[in-house]
Amino acid sequence: MSESVPIVGIDLGTTYSAAACIQKGRPQIIPAAGGQGIIPSVVHMDRSGRVIVGRDARAALVAMPNRTVAAIKRQMGSDKKVKLGDKEFLPQEISALILKELKDAVDNLLGPGEKEAVITVPAYFNDEQRRATQQAGELAGFVVERIINEPTAAAMAFGLYNMQENRNILVYDLGGGTFDVSVLETLGGILEVKASAGNSLLGGEDFDWLLVNWMAGILKERHGADPLKDLKAKALLKEEAERVKIVLSREEKATASLPVVMFHKNKPLGLEAEISRKEFEEMIEPLLQETLNKVRDALTEAGLEAENIQDVLLVGGSTRIPRVRELLYEIFQKEARKDVHPDEAVALGAAVQAGIKGGNISKDEMIVTDVAPFSMGIAVMDNSFGPNAREGRFSVIIPKNTAIPASRKDTFCTVGDYQTVASIEVYQGEHRWVENNKHLGKFSLEGVPPAPAGEEKIVVEFRYNLNGILEVTAKCLSNNKSMQVVMQDALSRFAREAFQESATSLEALWKNAPGEEEPQAQLDIDSYLDDEDFTVEDKDHQAMEEEARVLLKRAKKLKSAAIGLKRKKLLDIIDLLKGALEGNDSDNLAGAIDEATDLLIDVDV
Ligand code: ADP
Ligand code: MG
Repeated sequence: MSESVPIVGIDLGTTYSAAACIQKGRPQIIPAAGGQGIIPSVVHMDRSGRVIVGRDARAALVAMPNRTVAAIKRQMGSDKKVKLGDKEFLPQEISALILKELKDAVDNLLGPGEKEAVITVPAYFNDEQRRATQQAGELAGFVVERIINEPTAAAMAFGLYNMQENRNILVYDLGGGTFDVSVLETLGGILEVKASAGNSLLGGEDFDWLLVNWMAGILKERHGADPLKDLKAKALLKEEAERVKIVLSREEKATASLPVVMFHKNKPLGLEAEISRKEFEEMIEPLLQETLNKVRDALTEAGLEAENIQDVLLVGGSTRIPRVRELLYEIFQKEARKDVHPDEAVALGAAVQAGIKGGNISKDEMIVTDVAPFSMGIAVMDNSFGPNAREGRFSVIIPKNTAIPASRKDTFCTVGDYQTVASIEVYQGEHRWVENNKHLGKFSLEGVPPAPAGEEKIVVEFRYNLNGILEVTAKCLSNNKSMQVVMQDALSRFAREAFQESATSLEALWKNAPGEEEPQAQLDIDSYLDDEDFTVEDKDHQAMEEEARVLLKRAKKLKSAAIGLKRKKLLDIIDLLKGALEGNDSDNLAGAIDEATDLLIDVDV
C-alpha cells in the first residue's frame, strides 16, 4: 500500500529548507512557490494573521522583527514558546509552518493527497530535538517515514554515483546553526557511517553575532548608545553582519554600512566601519578550531587517520568561508570535492533515502547504515568507593557510534534492602556522572520481590531505532515482571494532548490562509510601512534622504562593474531613488528606500 504513497526528502535547515524527490532516476529539488528551490526558514505573520514563509518573510525580518521568526531550529526540542505576531508558538509549530510551505510545493508537483517524508536532522540532535522534528513534519501533514542524519544524507547524495569503489569519506557540514562531522565508508554498495561528532549550537549565525557585537561595540564607543537593547536596531545589525560576512568570503575587505541604525537622543545614528577578512577570521577562529577538534574526534572514533580519507565533502553555506577550506586542507592535504552542492546535498540525499523506501532506487544500489551519535545509559549507584557509594554514576548501555538499529542489555542489582521498586533514569551523553548528561526520561519497575540489597537482578534493555528514538525495557529476573517504555511516549498522554492542541491551532491558521487558486500570500507593503515596529514618523525626512543617498551611492558603485540584467536592475534602482529624492514626499521616499534595499540585496550577492 505504501508503494503508492509518494515520498519526498526534506532538509529542514536553520537558515534554508528544501524538499526533493527522485525524478527520472535522479534526486531533484522541488521548486517552491515563486520558483525558488530553497526557501529561507523564516516565518512572518502579518497583521491580519496571515502566515508568510520564505523569501518574503525574510524581507520582513528587519522591518518587523516581532512579527517574524528565524532560526527556529536552534530551539527545537525546547518547550518554550516563541512570539510570532500576537500569538505564541512552540518551536515545532513554527517548523511545521515552514514544512507546510514545502508540502504545498510537493503537492503542487505531485498532486494532492497523502505524502510520506524523510526529514533530516543534524547527526548531533538529541532525542527530544528529533522528536520535535518528527512532530513538526506530522503537524504539517506529512507521514514522517524516517528521520535521518544530515551528513549521512549528504554522503548519500554523493554516494549514489560513487558506490563501487572502497572509499573513506568525511562530511563536514557547517550550516547556519549547527555543525556536524561524519566519517563514512563505501564498500560493495554499502554506505556505512563509522563515526559522527558535532555541536548542534554552532554555525554561521554565531559568526553573524560576533560581527553584530563588533558593530555594536563601535556604536557604543562612538556614541555611547547600545543598539542591542533595541529590537529593530539589533535586527538591522544582524542583517548587515551576514552581508558583511558573505562579502568577506570573496573580498579581502568589507564595509559595514548602515545609514540609520537607531535613534539616540533624538538623532539618527549611522554606522560605517571597515573590517578585513583577516580580522574576521581571527574573530571566528576559536569556533572553527572547535569544529576541527570534532573532526579529529570523529577520525579517532572511526579508527582512521587524515590520510586515509579519500573524499572531503563540504556541506552547508558556512563552508564557503575560505578559512574553513584552508584549515581542512591543512589537515587532509587535499582539496574538498567540488561536485557536492553545499546548499542542496542534504535535501538531495534525503530524496535518495526516500527513493530507496519508495522503490525508485534499488536496494542493491545502496544500503546505508548509521550510528548513534552519543552514548545512552542509566543512572546507577557508584560503589567504587565502598561504603561512600555515590549516586548518579552513568552506566552506558548503548555506546556512542554503535551502528543502528541497536539493541543492548545489561544486568543491574538492587541497591536497597527489601526495595520493591526499581527506578530507571535514562540519560544520554559522555560524562561519567549523569548530572552532566542529558536526562531523557524516567520510569519505575514495581513489584520487585523484597530481598536483601544486591540479591534481585534487573535486566535493562535499550533498543535504539533507525529514527534515533529510544525504547527501554526493564525486567526483574526472579519473577519475570517487566515494564517497557518508549522514551518518545514517556510523556505519552500529555504529548498526545499537546500534539492535538498544536494541530488545532495550526489548522485554524491555515483555514485563514488564501485558497489554492489564489496567488501566494505576498507581503502587503502598506501594512509593512505603517506597522508598529516601523513608524515612518520615527525617521525624519533628512535621515531618510541620507539613507537614500547612501543606497544611491552603493547602487552606482555596483553599476560600474555590472553587466546585463544586473546592470538594468541597478539602473532601475538608481532611477527610483533619484526620483524619490527629487520629490518631497516622505512616504514615497520610505517606499523607495525599502524597494531599493530589497533590490540591492538581490543584486549584491
Ligand atoms: P542550515 O542548513 O543551517 O539552514 P545552510 O547550510 O543553508 O544552513 O547555511 C546557511 C549559513 O551559511 C548562514 O549562516 C549563511 O550566512 C551562511 N553563508 C551562506 N553563504 C555564505 C558565504 N558565501 N560566506 C559565508 N557564509 C555563508
Ligand atoms: Mg543544513
